[in-house]
Amino acid sequence: MNTIENLKNFKGKKVLVRVDFNVPLKGDVVRDNNRIVAALPTINYLVKGGARVVLMSHLGKVDWGKVDDATLAEQMKKNNMEIVYPEVKKQLAPTAVYFTKETKGDGLTKAIDALKDGEVLLVQNTRYEKGESKNDPKISADWAKNFDMFVMDAFGSAHRAHASTYGVPELLKKENKPVALGYLMEKEVKNLNVCVTGKDHPYIAILGGFKVSDKIKVIDSLLKKCDKILIGGAMSYTFLKALGKNIGTSPCEDDQLEYAKKCYASGKIMLPVDTIEANGFDNYTIVKTVEGNIDDGFQGLDVGPKTVELYAKEIAKAKTIFWNGPMGVFENKDFTKGTIAICKAITDNKKCFSVIGGGDSAAAAKQFGFDTKFSHVSTGGGASLEMIENDGHLPGIDVIG
Ligand code: AMP
Repeated sequence: MNTIENLKNFKGKKVLVRVDFNVPLKGDVVRDNNRIVAALPTINYLVKGGARVVLMSHLGKVDWGKVDDATLAEQMKKNNMEIVYPEVKKQLAPTAVYFTKETKGDGLTKAIDALKDGEVLLVQNTRYEKGESKNDPKISADWAKNFDMFVMDAFGSAHRAHASTYGVPELLKKENKPVALGYLMEKEVKNLNVCVTGKDHPYIAILGGFKVSDKIKVIDSLLKKCDKILIGGAMSYTFLKALGKNIGTSPCEDDQLEYAKKCYASGKIMLPVDTIEANGFDNYTIVKTVEGNIDDGFQGLDVGPKTVELYAKEIAKAKTIFWNGPMGVFENKDFTKGTIAICKAITDNKKCFSVIGGGDSAAAAKQFGFDTKFSHVSTGGGASLEMIENDGHLPGIDVIG
């Protein structure tokens, strides 16, 4: 692997680090600083060695060309990297950390040139530039010309070939300038590759969450690698309906019924045998456990105790586990049991290598106090799914070479 340890003589050099500071915000404060903390080893290593470190990241969505000007301005205001700046400064103290609103041209160059050895500059949201998400060669060239080296440490964005994740390192490589993966990327690649290769069997995947269509391609790929796929969450109702069960008012993706049937025919898919149902998502008055069919006028919101028992037995036998997607609406205290039980079953199995593939399952494991007991908790939901789907390849990894 081409890692940061391969970078030599970076004292006084201008190093662009593509970080993933796409952190959840609550108004004007950072709600969860995980992703900032996860990038510290790379930043501190470069700072200690006297590099002039420039941090670039996207933050939230800026839908160029898809929304009207007022909405675009609103999106930019909401996703202003300046909100993240105090937390970055705090985490890197006593290192000098500056912020620039400039996202291209002479203004950006000036801010970078003002850095002294061992200082850090955080740049405004990369998505303030229209060309970022399109991997526009113009913006890539405008950014790349400022740097001697590039470090990729944004795993959560490594599945996107954007200007800051792909265009810039591609250009620098052409100029024979060093590019490398940071410590966070190194850890992600090493740990997720265990699930990509899946050498230790039984290999169990646990998939939950809301959408089947989001996870479709990974189901196909996981069926080739895994011994069993345990399905929970809202996506289980699409499978149950495909098998002719009544699912009441539960969410279902009707255009995926044939696909679900095809997957089920593999014999590797396990589905909930009981469900915790309620007569509404928010304003329900009845919550009960049912086996088999879900009642008319009710929707499933968590897996039931028999399913938990069944799944826990499989989990106890596993040597490799990949988990993406909660078993139920874990944000609501009435429907946390299935997700907590899965966390417990996985972490009780001390002989398995367990990976949480980011997103909501990582948030759930943290909320219930299990996150430190997993072998690896990925910082990238979409990226970890795509990495498994593409047999270990992601644009942001492959470009580093
Ligand atoms: P995803 O982003 O696809 O992993 O979906 C995560 C979301 O799925 C969480 O916010 C959960 O509340 C939601 N979810 C899980 N189970 C259910 C369910 N039975 N009904 C509705 N939403 C669910």
